[in-house]
Amino acid sequence: MVTTRSQDLFTAAQQHIPGGVNSPVRAFRGVGGTPLFFQSAAGSKLIDADGNSYIDYVGSWGPMILGHAHPDVIAAVINQAAHGLSFGAPTELEVQMADKVCALIPSIELVRMVSSGTEATMSALRLARGYTGRDKIIKFEGCYHGHVDALLVKAGSGMLTLGEPSSPGVPAALAELTLTLRYNDLDQVRDTFAKFGDSIAAIIVEPVAGNMNCIPPAPGFLQGLRDICDRYGSVLIFDEVMTGFRVGLNGAQGLYGIKPDLTALGKVIGGGMPVGAFGGRREIMEKISPLGPVYQAGTLSGNPIAMAAGLKTLELISAPDFYSNLTATTTQLTQGLMQAAAAAGIPFTTNQVGAMFGLFFTNASAVTNYAQVMACQQAQFNSFFHAMLAHGVYFAPSAYEAGFVSAAHSAVDIDTTVTAAADVFKQLAH
Ligand code: PLP
Repeated sequence: MVTTRSQDLFTAAQQHIPGGVNSPVRAFRGVGGTPLFFQSAAGSKLIDADGNSYIDYVGSWGPMILGHAHPDVIAAVINQAAHGLSFGAPTELEVQMADKVCALIPSIELVRMVSSGTEATMSALRLARGYTGRDKIIKFEGCYHGHVDALLVKAGSGMLTLGEPSSPGVPAALAELTLTLRYNDLDQVRDTFAKFGDSIAAIIVEPVAGNMNCIPPAPGFLQGLRDICDRYGSVLIFDEVMTGFRVGLNGAQGLYGIKPDLTALGKVIGGGMPVGAFGGRREIMEKISPLGPVYQAGTLSGNPIAMAAGLKTLELISAPDFYSNLTATTTQLTQGLMQAAAAAGIPFTTNQVGAMFGLFFTNASAVTNYAQVMACQQAQFNSFFHAMLAHGVYFAPSAYEAGFVSAAHSAVDIDTTVTAAADVFKQLAH
């Protein structure tokens, strides 16, 4: 496979773009090698700058649940663009979007549109702090909530520590307010609340963790968080930027039957345009300006093109059987990969929630926490990644990212992927 044009573009990109990319994982640092540059996409396929075609399991990191360049979404965007790109003033499309989000996610009574998932989680945190008058927050190891200062924090290993920044530029004084706990460890959450409960504004959690590969919540974990927040008067924030409209039409909260106080959304809700949203209980959301004193704003918030793409996407994913079909396709993929790995004698397993999946090179029969993810064979994943790429299959260029299937993936796409993987697993076994 010739990729010289991508390589040339990467060399050129590094002249004026830090690391040649506008978001770090795109640089292939985790897997080695140089990134592919893409020129177009349609359905389940990506076409790179050299004209090579790939079956895509990244889906722009989640938004492209209908597949790329869905004709109805493109038509909605073109139609709206002809009427103006941005007004900085209210539009009917925003009303339709708010009504639709509140109908699909019943815990959301009021919703504010923003332009990214990061803005959504940042604003939800500020609101939770403003509402409770408390400063500390809890997040979980391995969960990513965007590049919000307060959320770029990791805990020291082992016991709970007050947060240390994991990026220079995050003030230590701010990081100290973030307590990072182990995902799926409810006892640690209980102990932490017993010590600091009265000063904890919020727990923020990915209800299915998708930024340490794909880790579903342990039975009772999300309900336990709900109960603890109720007991201590803290705000439960579900970061559904990835899971919202991905693991089911009503998000992870619909799938597991847990009502958070606030929800952050992004990715699918914009249909591929830059969009995020946060919303939740009326009593809390009424604290946001202009109704209340907690400030939040955006020049392009509720942008009409983004609303048009998002609304069309939400309409199409609301079709009967959309999620059962998508989940079945994803299961065909995860099962097929596991069988192919087993046949080649490669220790390997998968996780799956709806149309979100994780691949793990491990002897463990189930991967349920951050430590197990970290113990997986990263070098083997990297070899797998590059060999699959050579077979025309594009998985996420990192062992720590979830994969995504779209409605455009056909049975033939899945068969082609599994057949390629069977070959690659055999190579890896030698
Ligand atoms: N929250 C979660 C769970 C995410 O996966 C991401 C991005 O991947 C974000 C927040 C940040 O969203 P954005 O990249 O749109 O700022």
